[in-house]
Amino acid sequence: MPELPEVEVCRQGLAAHLTGATITGAVVRFPRLREPLPENLSERLAGRHITKLLRRGKYLLLACDAGPDRGWLLIHLGMSGSLRITAPSESPGKHDHFDLVVGEKILRLTDPRRFGLVDWFGATDIERHRRLADLGVEPLSAAFTGAWLYAVTRQRATPIKTLLMDAHVVVGIGNIYAAEALFRAAISPTRPAGRLGRQACERLVTAIRATLDEAIAAGGSSIRDYVHHDGGSGYFQVTVAVYGRTGLPCPRCGTPVRQIRQAGRSTFYCADCQR
Ligand SMILES: [Zn+2]
Repeated sequence: MPELPEVEVCRQGLAAHLTGATITGAVVRFPRLREPLPENLSERLAGRHITKLLRRGKYLLLACDAGPDRGWLLIHLGMSGSLRITAPSESPGKHDHFDLVVGEKILRLTDPRRFGLVDWFGATDIERHRRLADLGVEPLSAAFTGAWLYAVTRQRATPIKTLLMDAHVVVGIGNIYAAEALFRAAISPTRPAGRLGRQACERLVTAIRATLDEAIAAGGSSIRDYVHHDGGSGYFQVTVAVYGRTGLPCPRCGTPVRQIRQAGRSTFYCADCQR
């Protein structure tokens, strides 16, 4: 599943191709992904200029302007979606469900499992969109600080790792990144969030940013003229200390890495280094 770093790299790659371009139309080959695609999408989009590409959580947001009138195309990659820039001459494959036609280029959505999403929001203020309104803070934004984490975790008995993966609190920290960031910060994933002190919150925020930044850098260097995610693990090749390393020695102290279940997800950690 594409996670925040993958979507961010995708956004950066697409921005280079699409910013300032004029949409000439859209092709919907399969009218329903996770939800039905909006009707008359081609008519709504044709003639609009793509003025910027943003990301909120794992949503890609294309600002589509027609003079002073702004609308937004929302794309979510779901479980298995990928986007790439291709030429109109390239025949669509079986899972190529949506094309955004931008002059001599096509932005093509491939989605074998069809959990992706394409939506149109014909208003200026994208933050009001029902899918975005309840999302938590962006972990790469200035709002994500140790002081903020300290404040939101007070009186919370939820294990810190479970809280980090709650999109109403903070968006886009996938399972692997949560595990690796907690290892770096030397904090046990099982510790009740409310028991983290100020310094631990600072350490954790720093570790989360570093983990995500490294993944984005790894992805950015692996992607050249088109944008995708690898369709396999959904994760870039990041160096892992604990994730998926059950029973192997902790790189810091040599204690075997432990695997547990938390909120239905696997968690990997060193019970010796992480307290
Ligand atoms: Zn250790």
